[in-house]
Amino acid sequence: MFTQKIKKLVLNTWCLLLPAIAMSQQKADHLIVITTDGFRWQELFTGMDSVIANNAKFNQSDSAALFKKYWRNHAEERRKLVMPFFWNSLAPKGQVYGNRGYGNYVNTANPYHFSYPGYNEIFTGNPDTSINSNSYPPNPQINVLEYLQQQPGYKGRVAAFTAWNAFNRILNEQRSGVPVIAAFDTTPGSGLTQQQKLINKMLLNSYKPWREEECLDVFTHYAAMEYLKTRKPKVLYIAYGETDEWAHSGKYRDYLNAANQWDKWLEELWIFLQTDAEYKNRTALVITVDHGRGLNEEWTTHGKTVTGADEIWFAIISPNLSAKGEIKARVQLYQQQLAQTMANLLGKEFKANHPVAEGLMSVLK
Ligand SMILES: [Zn+2]
Repeated sequence: MFTQKIKKLVLNTWCLLLPAIAMSQQKADHLIVITTDGFRWQELFTGMDSVIANNAKFNQSDSAALFKKYWRNHAEERRKLVMPFFWNSLAPKGQVYGNRGYGNYVNTANPYHFSYPGYNEIFTGNPDTSINSNSYPPNPQINVLEYLQQQPGYKGRVAAFTAWNAFNRILNEQRSGVPVIAAFDTTPGSGLTQQQKLINKMLLNSYKPWREEECLDVFTHYAAMEYLKTRKPKVLYIAYGETDEWAHSGKYRDYLNAANQWDKWLEELWIFLQTDAEYKNRTALVITVDHGRGLNEEWTTHGKTVTGADEIWFAIISPNLSAKGEIKARVQLYQQQLAQTMANLLGKEFKANHPVAEGLMSVLK
């Protein structure tokens, strides 16, 4: 009698627990990849750099305002001023790698430390050293977005919105069949919403600080958001670019403000995902950068000869991964591992006619 009661109790407890376990292990069937070009791990993990902010060469005559907006004595408080949503809400739901203060290392495997080789590494899983220029022709390597687009149920449901026009070549839009809405490309198709028509018009009429090469992030963001809401892609890539552009101009205020604005857009995206039945608790997010930047006065630049420019970071949030927040364990990971990871998050295996680096699922768990 007593054992029966215990059995019943155990059974009841299991019945209560099972749905929770099943839910927490649900596989992602949607993927959103987000990059912000050349945003340093230093600002992500430790917030504003006071030496750079004090330097008249970089602070745009605005150091008092910079310190007011972004300075606290402790790094973990300071970083929340640049990236409040990321640190307060998003990071605790997933895993963040790359805080070198803890020996948690993420590096590019390619030796060049600039954009085309970096994005190639992220999406093909193969840091082919022949890809050594931002003006490199259309990428001969298959990328994971293209691979996913060929999987059953994914055709026509993969898209990329990118501020920089080089993504037409990096993702080989022509061969891959993945629509790449890059720089001043307008959202294509008939039956566009009023918002899409307005965004298209504003994009074409907007200020072009980087000529035809790159648009302001605000247009890429809202074009991507409208596409997400109306077309419901299974895989979406959004590539922001201002963090890199303002850094190259040596404008530390604009660089921090671009990251801070990007954080607001991450929040907007997350709120949409979590209030939409198709995406809620079924969507994996991969957030990363193409390269790091130099140290001290070299924060503005990056490349093969710039110390620190191969140091990157990434965050992954997915319903089937445990929520560990910032990872403080000693480890060495590489950018080239992200391509296979993206496929694995969707329960797929990325296969290409070139070597693909091992994914991170055993690390992420
Ligand atoms: Zn750059």
